[in-house]
Amino acid sequence: MTCSRMAFLKMLGMGSMAWAVAPPSLPALAAGGGGALPEARAQAARLRIRDVEIYPYELKMKEPFTVAFETFDRSKGVLIRIRTDAGLTGLGEASPLLRVTGDTQATAVHAARQIRDVLIGRDPLAIERALTLIGVHLHSNPAIVAAFDMALWDLLGKAAGLPVFRLLGGDATPFETDLTIGLESPEAMAASARAAMAQGFRTLKVKLGQEPAADLARLQAIREAVGAAATLRIDANQGYTVPQARYALQHMERFDLQCCEQPLDQKDLEGMRYLRSVSPVPLMADESLFSPADALRLLREEACDFFNIKLMKCGGITNALKIAWIAEAGGVPCMVGCMLESRLGLTAAAHVHGARRGVTMADLDSHFDFSVDPILGGIQVAEGLVTLPGQPGLGADLDPAFLRQLERVR
Ligand code: MG
Repeated sequence: MTCSRMAFLKMLGMGSMAWAVAPPSLPALAAGGGGALPEARAQAARLRIRDVEIYPYELKMKEPFTVAFETFDRSKGVLIRIRTDAGLTGLGEASPLLRVTGDTQATAVHAARQIRDVLIGRDPLAIERALTLIGVHLHSNPAIVAAFDMALWDLLGKAAGLPVFRLLGGDATPFETDLTIGLESPEAMAASARAAMAQGFRTLKVKLGQEPAADLARLQAIREAVGAAATLRIDANQGYTVPQARYALQHMERFDLQCCEQPLDQKDLEGMRYLRSVSPVPLMADESLFSPADALRLLREEACDFFNIKLMKCGGITNALKIAWIAEAGGVPCMVGCMLESRLGLTAAAHVHGARRGVTMADLDSHFDFSVDPILGGIQVAEGLVTLPGQPGLGADLDPAFLRQLERVR
């Protein structure tokens, strides 16, 4: 079978869709492709990064959103697009959150320019090698490293003609996400919880972490509003001291909580370990868990029952997988969570959920907060269920109309 150069490029750039150009038979594929496939492989082997586009963006929220340490009215992140010499592109998103990840949009842009200069001319499919080159940037810029990492996985999936979750051996079974209820008065939170249930969500994540007595009143109002069937998880975002957390969790047992995320300061693993020994509510590590090494430390200290993996903390899909494997070996179920990403970053996290059996929970809901959705394709969330896209790579693209409003950083 013969195939034009354009057909090879289409095969690379559009994955499975490209077979429509010159579909090889199954026996031909089994025998090595009979021409088209070996040439596509050779093309992939020659692929090099030609340029990286960097776009700072801002997404306004429909309503201000409050957690224990801050109120947000917008998200300021960075979108990147890696371009290769064969026309294939990979997309990534950074959603830095100073109080958690220690980076900002400005530092992410600065790091992105340095990473761009390191990666130009390199093989985009050799992700481990690229991450080694990115190296030191992960230490203080996890969000922009996550953007590059997911863009490289996007490219690898497109080159292979497979969605990333398929490339990793996962499947497309839809899965549940919670919806997050921001920190407000008991009445306002109960109303939000009721509205979420009306939209079809069955699991709610409740932001708490202020005075325990006030938090108990909030939970009381929410449980009364949603009834016994709803699953409730809470997130204190490091807001409690050890005595506060002990008091709060012992009194929260009656609200039948699935878990409490990060009750204590991120560095207080000793406190987490103690609290876990006295709390009737299981604990989830979020801000205490950035890297695979943190995952090992949390396991060793027996400091939590669950992990909350976020691409923006760990530096992307690669490290998220490493954490998930460590968690699986240690018997700790995981959730994939988010900062304030658009549906692009959420889609990358959803691929990790689809790929790893040990990731059993999801908190992929930040896009509901924004007044604009800049992403085409990607995950779809309806009635609390997340459906993964079937296209090669991440399966998400930037809305050209949104992109036209952004200023590219050189
Ligand atoms: Mg959290």
